Amino acid sequence: MTSSDRTADVFSPDLVAGRTALITGGGSGIGYGIAECLAAAGASVSLFSRTEERVENAAARLRDEYGGAAIATVGDVREPEALEAAVTRTRSELGSVDFLVNNAAGNFYAPTAELSVNGWRAVIEIDLYGTFHACRAVLPAMIEGGFGRIVSISMTLHHRGWPLMAHATAAKAGVDALTRTLALEWARHGINVNAVAPGPIPTEGVKKAFSQPADESTDMFGERALEGFAERFIPAGRLGHTHDIGRMVTFLCSPAGDWITGAVFVVDGGESLASPRAIPTHTE
Ligand code: NAP
Repeated sequence: MTSSDRTADVFSPDLVAGRTALITGGGSGIGYGIAECLAAAGASVSLFSRTEERVENAAARLRDEYGGAAIATVGDVREPEALEAAVTRTRSELGSVDFLVNNAAGNFYAPTAELSVNGWRAVIEIDLYGTFHACRAVLPAMIEGGFGRIVSISMTLHHRGWPLMAHATAAKAGVDALTRTLALEWARHGINVNAVAPGPIPTEGVKKAFSQPADESTDMFGERALEGFAERFIPAGRLGHTHDIGRMVTFLCSPAGDWITGAVFVVDGGESLASPRAIPTHTE
């Protein structure tokens, strides 16, 4: 497969034209890849994250490359008021909020015995509370429009457990549960709620967070592991690309996703089915 096979524009350019997506953490990594795919399919995008320069540059890049409307708002998903303000601004500048992508997250390796309460709290608050706050922030607009698509970016590691990631796996298990419950509660408003669980995608954020792997068995993103990992552990034979996730999110937001709600879609080249679980040896 060549990189051109992973372009953002596999769908019709007007597939989701007239719709607007609010994407948390949309200024980089997977969130930016999702923004590209939605923009390539005709959506306006509203990016929300903490680092002003990064998120503003990302919006400018989207406008340049895809031609549609893209705005950036600086804020933290741990603050419900900041998300409410982003929704208000998005509605006023782009007309509506039709899609919400809960992508912002934090993560790092830590043996649970050594994980600080602050570290635990930060990840739970960004990943799980942030998703909750964003879902509630968009709800009034989606009810008013009689339409909504919410897609939360989960993971696969909690399906069986993953050492050194008690914080993130617990948070994402909560995100999956929230997805199913909101799907049941909000279907009557025309709001579909789903999640996408990516396999390993070597974003800059992930490479930075896991640059000092605990040991070889848990090192998916370190330089020495990248080359061999896909070959050894991913049946599809390659690491993921941000557009692999962006395409799935776009599909769910499109009319093709009309009768899909309450589901968690694994997009990982078969990795979670195939790879053995790591047993860390360094923590003792
Ligand atoms: P990333 O490169 O670290 O990007 C995370 C983004 O979220 C950044 O743009 C960051 O921007 C933003 N963010 C972080 N904390 C925030 C906060 N409190 N408020 C607002 N924005 C915040 O991560 P990624 O690899 O693209 O991952 C994206 C999503 O995919 C996450 O939900 C992650 O759990 C999931 N995922 C990733 C992988 C993978 O292999 N990459 C695998 C499974 C699941 P600022 O720092 O500027 O705020």
